[in-house]
Amino acid sequence: MNAEIIAVGSELLLGQIVNTNARFISQELAGLGIDVYYHTVVGDNPDRLKAAITIAEKRSDIIIFTGGLGPTKDDLTKETIARHLGKQLVMDDAALDGIKLYFKRTNREMTENNKKQALILEGSHVLPNDHGMAPGMLLKKDAHLYMLLPGPPKEMEPMFSKYGKQALSAEADSSSILVSRVLRFFGIGEAALETEIIDLIEAQSNPTIAPLAGDGEVTLRLTAKHSDEAVAVSMLDEVEKKIGERVGEFLYGYDQSSLLNELTKLLKEKKLTITAAESLTGGMFQQNITSISGASSVFKGGIVCYSNEVKHQILQVKQETLEKYGAVSEQCAQELAENAGRIFGTDIGISFTGVAGPEELEGKPVGTVYIGISIKGKQTVVKKLTLSGTRTANRGRAVKYGCYYILKMLRTAQNA
Ligand code: ATP
Repeated sequence: MNAEIIAVGSELLLGQIVNTNARFISQELAGLGIDVYYHTVVGDNPDRLKAAITIAEKRSDIIIFTGGLGPTKDDLTKETIARHLGKQLVMDDAALDGIKLYFKRTNREMTENNKKQALILEGSHVLPNDHGMAPGMLLKKDAHLYMLLPGPPKEMEPMFSKYGKQALSAEADSSSILVSRVLRFFGIGEAALETEIIDLIEAQSNPTIAPLAGDGEVTLRLTAKHSDEAVAVSMLDEVEKKIGERVGEFLYGYDQSSLLNELTKLLKEKKLTITAAESLTGGMFQQNITSISGASSVFKGGIVCYSNEVKHQILQVKQETLEKYGAVSEQCAQELAENAGRIFGTDIGISFTGVAGPEELEGKPVGTVYIGISIKGKQTVVKKLTLSGTRTANRGRAVKYGCYYILKMLRTAQNA
């Protein structure tokens, strides 16, 4: 089966917003093994929308609409599709109750036109909206599947992930259920990872393997289809094992996890505490770790040591080190990590020093980064990176590398 995504909204055509819905749905469909052949964008105009539907029906099996399900006059997706397919719009009591509840929960007055959002295409399968009002719909008619989703990504994305995908695969193949797993990698580029497993990607059909890169990380979404969920899970295990044999050293977590989540989890498990001395990253590590709930049991506090005075006076980096090697040096990173751990009385001290850019520093080029990791009872390790991104990207990337190195060191010690 192939699919086409029709995004409805004049603001997309005016360039006021970017069509991120199409990107999201395409990625999700790739994970289901459904090819997307066309992205269409059409304004809030019933004639042009009807024309777009007519074209889509000639070339696509599945047509997915986003936007235009709201209560206002220019929200016309449902009405136009109903007219085009010769279907009635009928009130869905469950959806109406959901809308009433939404108004109660958000303490707002419900107006009459909001009821319009509970109208669904007769005979359609309703996709509940857990984050807003307008329900989504899936309708089968003749050779086509029509899926209607709301415009706001914060409503559309969870609706599609939780209800849309299952409904779509059940309609497309009622004997199967889908099970997905996202493998998260760090420390390997997308191209290198793909090269390692290209034969598996090329031979894929069930489970499917969909790579995605972004923000210095690479993910692989594995999706298996089977009538028995346990079998689907074991199919995922099998393909994950094959992938792990090749690039397992870069695999750090699953699904929605992040490097910092994994690090916090592992520190908790091992009852270890951490502190940070941050020059280059200016507190980014500390900000990120404290955004994770429960971080207080592992993170005691830390220091932003942007200037050399703070490095020397508070973190006790030797004057001689700063003069001889500079603040951006292996020696400085080592002292920062060790001294921070000692001053804060933690099991681990991590330090970040480097040249974020755009100007070089101490004769060292932009992107030079030293990360010091001092773990009680172990030799301090200093890692040097040469990053090539923007100032913000380099700082963010350095924090991720720092987490990745600690994770690797602790996991290696665990497995040794
Ligand atoms: P609402 O009930 O909010 O009116 P709706 O289903 O009618 O929802 P629209 O009115 O078309 O959706 O769009 C609402 C908002 O959702 C837009 O202002 C925009 O911020 C976002 N949005 C709509 N379509 C897209 C898209 N294709 N990609 C990303 N964001 C979108």
